[in-house]
Amino acid sequence: MRDRWSILVAEVMLQQTQVDRVAERWSRFLGRYPTPSVCAGAPVGDVIAEWSGLGYNRRAVYLHRTAATVVDRHGGEVPGRLVDLLALPGIGPYAARAVLAFADEQDVGVVDTNVARVLARRSGRRLRPAEVQAMADASVPTGSGWAWNQTMLDLGATVCRARNPTCGSCPVSTGCVWRGQGDDPAVGSAGVSGRQATFEGSDRQGRGRLVAALAESPVTAVRLAETMGWPDDPERAARVASRLVADGLAVTDGRRWLLP
Ligand code: SF4
Repeated sequence: MRDRWSILVAEVMLQQTQVDRVAERWSRFLGRYPTPSVCAGAPVGDVIAEWSGLGYNRRAVYLHRTAATVVDRHGGEVPGRLVDLLALPGIGPYAARAVLAFADEQDVGVVDTNVARVLARRSGRRLRPAEVQAMADASVPTGSGWAWNQTMLDLGATVCRARNPTCGSCPVSTGCVWRGQGDDPAVGSAGVSGRQATFEGSDRQGRGRLVAALAESPVTAVRLAETMGWPDDPERAARVASRLVADGLAVTDGRRWLLP
């Protein structure tokens, strides 16, 4: 068995951040928070500051809550049962099954956007959410959970790519219904992500800038809009910053903003 906490942290990071940006930050995070107990014992603001730069900072809040729940309910050990993992804050079917497959080598099907795309194309039709997960779970050969999931994730990322899949050299083309002919059934199929919204100029960009600034020091209300990159739009800055408070990523007394 590998360390479930290490894998859980990696999978939460990898859900919305590219692998080359995760590797170094994952080691650093685990150096600072090697166990759920250490993470749960730290102020959530410290965990957010450590996370800053990876994007989607709400994941840091959820990870901190997950660590606290693991301490409360499971004696500080990340559980090894699907039902317990799915009950942790912010842990969905992907991260829960990735922990079981890659830490415990259990026979569960890990579904990220790449695997969901492969399954839809092989089926030749759009799949519903429950269908794609059931199909992935049922496809794992007994006793091969670790290797099977690694292979499927690789296949989707490198062969059955969103654009220009290399069906001619695909090792599983036999039995694939679509094989690159006609409308792509993966478009709109469950678990297959569409194009990401543009980051530049988005609310997400302003949120990221504010969290990065707060990781250094509190920000006064008069500097808020400038810090978020919208010096001419204080209303937008206040609105977006308020959502950060609602998400547990910041606190304010009206005069200044800081990490919780
Ligand atoms: Fe994907 Fe083509 Fe392989 Fe089918 S044959 S799984 S569409 S790469």
